[in-house]
Amino acid sequence: MANISQKYIDIAKQNYPNEPEFLQTVEEVLLSIEPVLEAHPEYEKAGLVKRLIEPERMISFRVPWVDDNGEVQVNRGYRVQFNSALGPYKGGLRFQANVYPGILKFLGFEQIFKNSLTGLPIGGGKGGSDFDPAGKSDAEVMRFCQSFITELYRHIGPNTDVPAGDMGVGGREIGYMMGQYKRITNEYDGTWTGKGTTNGGLNGRTEATGFGIVFFAREVLKHFGDSLEGKTAVVSGFGNVSWGTITKLVELGAKPITISGPDGYILDEEGITTPEKINTLLELRNSGKNVCAPYVEKFPNAKFIPGKRPWEVKADLYLPCAMQNDITMDWAKEMVANGARYLIEGANMPTTNEAVQYLMDNGCVVAPSKAANAGGVACSCLEMAQNAEHLIWNKERVYAELEHIMVHIFKITEEACAKYNLGENLVAGANIAGFERVAEAMMMQGIV
Ligand code: GLU
Repeated sequence: MANISQKYIDIAKQNYPNEPEFLQTVEEVLLSIEPVLEAHPEYEKAGLVKRLIEPERMISFRVPWVDDNGEVQVNRGYRVQFNSALGPYKGGLRFQANVYPGILKFLGFEQIFKNSLTGLPIGGGKGGSDFDPAGKSDAEVMRFCQSFITELYRHIGPNTDVPAGDMGVGGREIGYMMGQYKRITNEYDGTWTGKGTTNGGLNGRTEATGFGIVFFAREVLKHFGDSLEGKTAVVSGFGNVSWGTITKLVELGAKPITISGPDGYILDEEGITTPEKINTLLELRNSGKNVCAPYVEKFPNAKFIPGKRPWEVKADLYLPCAMQNDITMDWAKEMVANGARYLIEGANMPTTNEAVQYLMDNGCVVAPSKAANAGGVACSCLEMAQNAEHLIWNKERVYAELEHIMVHIFKITEEACAKYNLGENLVAGANIAGFERVAEAMMMQGIV
């Protein structure tokens, strides 16, 4: 059936057998764009997919730094410049012990289609390091960031490649990297996004991903004649994305009841709805410790469930906002048994391919991360525009643009579903809508 795409999935498997996360996203995207490939034989002639699955450039470098004991440490740094058909490479940096090229290629590949869905002029890239900021002193994080940029600076720029944050990289890390970049290049430009607002950052960028996720969720529910009002929501994670998501869910009348960390989850059946409770997430994030358990006290009448994921809790909406492959088949079965109706993916690829299929086959609508969490990178592009203008935008303007972009993403996803008879398969709809724009741009640029 999937004749064209399967050929390229097999090529990727042959070339990168040790990159399972990358192969997972390649398989998911390519299988769903099969009808587009069949409708456009000229893509095949132009080697379009063959080129699309290979990064334009992959930079790998040594990051030496000195820890607080005076010992030299060496980490690996990377930047995957995946696809620049639509604009400068754009995507975050992830600092986490498990980072290796396969994770960054998965994230970079996803970023191509996510960025395309925003309708803005940004290509796809991603980078990071196997450095783990958890438990490091502030001075160690600064020295690491400075060393990282002392190599990366030569590969980036406001019209070349614009990094931002991702897991393990927040305002603090961006500040250190931007400071060192400025010192080396003597440029105060729009090379970084996710900066603090006094460093030329965008008002509203911190909450943008989470707010965007909830705007997208609202559109999905509206499509099915439903609304967020009164819905219980299971949210995972405790970082910026979870915080923004929970804040907006509450604003639109829903009731988030969980947050989670690697050590387990907090269940608050009364709802994480008051400002005190919501602000606990910021405290937790800023603790740099990555554990939820001690914070259960901040939620009166809540309980902490150690070593488990929140997917076993019955709710109207599920919003994974932590990491990739968080929802496996076992969890999907539990969710279906609990009557799951909506899964809105906040984190990048939080659900395994087989779990997505199982959920969709069993009456659960899945809003894919490429579409649902695109509000973060969309606002990064607004930050680039703001920096190019040498102006400061106010929050109201940012929120209005963000909402408009998320509504647009849902609309083109819905249109792709209708055009290719995909029913409620928003995963395929978003992949197709994202792919169509990139494909058109690549075709116009010749074989490059
Ligand atoms: N790391 C975020 C993402 O996964 C944001 C990237 C950016 O703003 O460039 O989309």
